[in-house]
Amino acid sequence: MASSSYSNSPCAACKFLRRKCMPDCIFAPYFPPEEPQKFANVHKIFGASNVSKLLNEVLPHQREDAVNSLAYEAEARMKDPVYGCVGAISVLQRQVIRLQKELDATNADLMRYACNHEMPPSQSERRNNNNMGGSSHHFGQNSGGLYFACPWSTDHDPCGDQRGGGGNM
Ligand SMILES: [Zn+2]
Repeated sequence: MASSSYSNSPCAACKFLRRKCMPDCIFAPYFPPEEPQKFANVHKIFGASNVSKLLNEVLPHQREDAVNSLAYEAEARMKDPVYGCVGAISVLQRQVIRLQKELDATNADLMRYACNHEMPPSQSERRNNNNMGGSSHHFGQNSGGLYFACPWSTDHDPCGDQRGGGGNM
């Protein structure tokens, strides 16, 4: 009873194209009648016959992924006819680069702050430490020397204590 919609209403593709939805309709599993816009977008950008050709070329277990990818690209291209989802990707890439720079700057500030607050005289010692951890400054940095012992979380003097450290494995 709940699945009566299956026999009654045509899939979104057949409804859009105003044709009879046959039981072996290639669109039916991926374009349910509840999501009419999904097919409308895909049809507008790629064309229904190209989509059915593509679905027939793809293995059945890959068809759902293929349809989701087409729907994503079609929607992106409707919003941005020139760049499509490449536009979204490059915006996100720029965001990643900007945030990475911000993170690097904040880590550098944190390090300066920590040193200036505890023990200014042993800064040369600290700089040595920075070079070891800071030279490889990409994503693994929080496991390296960048996050040395925080002065405010220890009760002894961390700068003095680190003398001759660095090689303690
Ligand atoms: Zn159909």
